[in-house]
Amino acid sequence: MDIQLLRGDITRVEVEAIVNAANSGLFGGGGVDGAIHRAGGSAIMEECKIIRSKQGGCPTGQAVFTSAGNMPYRYVIHTVGPVWRGGADGEPELLKACYTNSLKLADELNIISLAFPNISTGVYGYPKQLAAEMAIDAVGSYRSKSIRQVVFVCFDEENYSLYQQLIS
Ligand code: ADP
Repeated sequence: MDIQLLRGDITRVEVEAIVNAANSGLFGGGGVDGAIHRAGGSAIMEECKIIRSKQGGCPTGQAVFTSAGNMPYRYVIHTVGPVWRGGADGEPELLKACYTNSLKLADELNIISLAFPNISTGVYGYPKQLAAEMAIDAVGSYRSKSIRQVVFVCFDEENYSLYQQLIS
């Protein structure tokens, strides 16, 4: 698996599928979630509603998928990062599960290339250094059957330089 780093907007990356940092109700919101729903249009929210009615949303650390609406991707994988509450509340394991469960789902969907945002490092408050270490560890230790390329998309400069240091 080839690991790449990009700075910018995850709705404008050339991959087969992108990961969304959603909330457990799959209600949309600000940050990357808002950007993905804006770029994808209402079809994604309609599919989120169906998932909500079937299984009541998506628990923290788990992942579900929808189409990508107007975006040129096959799928959006929605995963729910942990809210940082000091680190002793299962946050590291849950953040790792977000990456691993998204990769597993991408494998089941026969995805070749996948882009991740920096899950939980916005309003959910996860310390960026710790989140970057966990993201790279989780992706680096995952053995995939279909995924050839994983792109970490960093929206802010701080995350981008942390990932640069960790990946090089
Ligand atoms: P969370 O609730 O998981 O913390 P946020 O969306 O608040 O989710 O933030 C997660 C990360 O997504 C942050 O590092 C933020 O800078 C980044 N982000 C915001 N908008 C975009 C975007 N359009 N593309 C990629 N990353 C984004």
